[in-house]
Amino acid sequence: MAESDLRRVRVLVIGGGPSGLAAATALADSGQVVVVEREQWAGGIPRHSDHTGYGLRDLRRVMRGPAYAETWRSRALDAGVELLESTMATEWAGDRTVRLTSPRGRTTITADAVVLATGARERPRTARRIPGDRPPGVLTTGQLQNLVHLQHASVGNRAVVVGAELVSWSAALTLREAGCRTVAMTTVHEKSESYSAFRLAGRAALRAPVLTRTEVVRIDGRERVESVLVRDLDTGAERALACDTVVMTGDWIPDHELARSGGLDLDAGTLGPSVDAALRTSAPGVFAVGNLLHPVDTADVAALDGLHVAPAVLEWFATGSTRSGVPLTAAAPLRWIAPQQVDPRGAGPARDRLLTWCDAFVSLPVVEIHQGGALVTRRRLPWPAAPGRVFRIPANVLDGVDPAGPPVEVSLAGRSSPDAGLLVRTARQVGRTHQ
Ligand SMILES: Cc1cc2nc3c(=O)[nH]c(=O)nc-3n(C[C@H](O)[C@H](O)[C@H](O)COP(=O)(O)OP(=O)(O)OC[C@H]3O[C@@H](n4cnc5c(N)ncnc54)[C@H](O)[C@@H]3O)c2cc1C
Repeated sequence: MAESDLRRVRVLVIGGGPSGLAAATALADSGQVVVVEREQWAGGIPRHSDHTGYGLRDLRRVMRGPAYAETWRSRALDAGVELLESTMATEWAGDRTVRLTSPRGRTTITADAVVLATGARERPRTARRIPGDRPPGVLTTGQLQNLVHLQHASVGNRAVVVGAELVSWSAALTLREAGCRTVAMTTVHEKSESYSAFRLAGRAALRAPVLTRTEVVRIDGRERVESVLVRDLDTGAERALACDTVVMTGDWIPDHELARSGGLDLDAGTLGPSVDAALRTSAPGVFAVGNLLHPVDTADVAALDGLHVAPAVLEWFATGSTRSGVPLTAAAPLRWIAPQQVDPRGAGPARDRLLTWCDAFVSLPVVEIHQGGALVTRRRLPWPAAPGRVFRIPANVLDGVDPAGPPVEVSLAGRSSPDAGLLVRTARQVGRTHQ
């Protein structure tokens, strides 16, 4: 490549969602900061998630998704960040050097630091391996909200929503706005995964029955979806639900293609890049933030990751510091934990919280910390752990950990032998693939 084809910048942020825009804004004073975003406008998922519930922890107010997205986009622009929209980072061309493609052509940018902020997505039907016909009308929540809020297209009249977590209620809200009735929501769990206040309000407003302990085993229809077959997990009984739309919700996977192709260490639990508490990946000078690391938490938490990473990037510029700390793993029913390396002597993780994902309902969880097999801490937390949402653990549970000692395991007391049936179903539903 000719030297003139190569642009040099101080920081390159890949992904213009809340986490990437916040990171770029926080780093704007460090030199030239560029954000690349493959969509026409930066803002990420909230841009087409037109309901309230955004901004509480980062902006200290509650906003609708599009207004929240625009706030972070404006903040980045006002801070002097350069936004390259309709631009996709396609591949690495060397250390901290990335090829970009846009309608204007191809360019390559090399940066002193790269921040990956590519987010997470819901697995589509193909990755969930649901048999049957392949008619139009099967969407993820992201595709549904894109169709309704950005393209103002119609989606159908009767929908089945697969999942009953927070995002599933968001899908049901969008369906209602589009004039499509949610005839049922299905969940493999014994109750809906979302918070009970939200669940009760959602049920009252949307009148969508939640079919617990069921899974969708087939989709039928030729020109359009005509029905789905749902199976009761306890009795094996099957019944068809007439519908013309199916929305696949939850079942998240990080958008980790660049992290993988760059040879970064990936965490087997999150499937995103493995990071330390400062959000440093295994590649020197490459950082990661947002739902790429914890699929998925709320947008404010993602944005606060973006603010948290800034001092670590500045430290990289000053000292060349790289990923460090004692390895951290989670035991079932905790599916994953982030970050995956911590140093109890150093700065804690973002918001001083360890983020985990729990595959079981535990109303009064007792967190145990073991290092090299020895119990370090046991602490009861006053909030429940539940599937379908992040379970947050105060990072000071690690205070007694030896920073030079063996790996640390985080578990829930009495839960080390998980419900085998639950895990079999989870594995089948979630299909621990890289798709
Ligand atoms: C339906 C739904 C409802 C939600 N409701 C709420 C809510 O009420 N409140 C709340 O706080 N949170 C909510 N969330 C979660 C919230 O949207 C996410 O936590 C937040 O968007 C995560 O931000 P992020 O920056 O990590 O990722 P994203 O918002 O996903 O942004 C990642 C960006 O990276 C871009 N990108 C990816 N790869 C590339 C590439 N190679 N090149 C260039 N660009 C790339 C993508 O286009 C995207 O814009 C909801 C999510 C969904 C799906």
